Amino acid sequence: MNSFLPRLYSNLPSIPCRLCGAPSQEYALCSACINDLPLLGPSCPRCAMPTTHGQLCGQCLTQPPEQDLSFSLFRYHDPINRLIADLKYHDKLYLTQLFSHLMSKQLIQSPLPHCLIPIPLHPKRLRQRGYNQSLELAKTLSKQLNIPVSNRYLSRIINTAPQASLPFKQRESNIKHAFKLMSSSVPSHIALVDDVLTTGHTANIAAKLLRQKGVKVIEVWTIARTIRHD
Ligand SMILES: [Zn+2]
Ligand SMILES: [Zn+2]
Repeated sequence: MNSFLPRLYSNLPSIPCRLCGAPSQEYALCSACINDLPLLGPSCPRCAMPTTHGQLCGQCLTQPPEQDLSFSLFRYHDPINRLIADLKYHDKLYLTQLFSHLMSKQLIQSPLPHCLIPIPLHPKRLRQRGYNQSLELAKTLSKQLNIPVSNRYLSRIINTAPQASLPFKQRESNIKHAFKLMSSSVPSHIALVDDVLTTGHTANIAAKLLRQKGVKVIEVWTIARTIRHD
């Protein structure tokens, strides 16, 4: 699949595919299951909602989000939701290799940001979970795309309820004051990295803070996009 696969995996024994159990040496999934993953397809460049020809969506024409560009590779459908849950809650950090490999193949086509900034977890949640899945994903993307990653710009100062646990209407107020900017000199072109883009409130609030510090181009990179009414 990719030139660095033999280097990474040549010494590993065949392991069962996480989804179907077939022998696999490729990122814990077999080639057939990787090929069946639900790609997002043509989508609005600004918010990553599907559009027929990859044009701006109606929402972004009238009320665009704070970020300039959004990139999601998959629809947040089965089995992506299960794989992201594995990554997020069950210590399956090796899945970042699969996701960042597939994401970076598409991302290299456009001018790359100067820095990757993972959406931070509150220190309390970080202690409970032991890792921040967004930072782990950003680290593997960083290696593949040769872009530095930094978690020193943005911190989470309020331990908000998980967005996924709330009705859509409450998500914006839940996250509104959650972040703090730790440094005033942020690179002019950055990408926020997170696992899933749903309402976009989390990314929007973080992007607003960065914009206030003069960041010119803000991208939001996620593994998957939740499509409402889909
Ligand atoms: Zn499989
Ligand atoms: Zn849009």
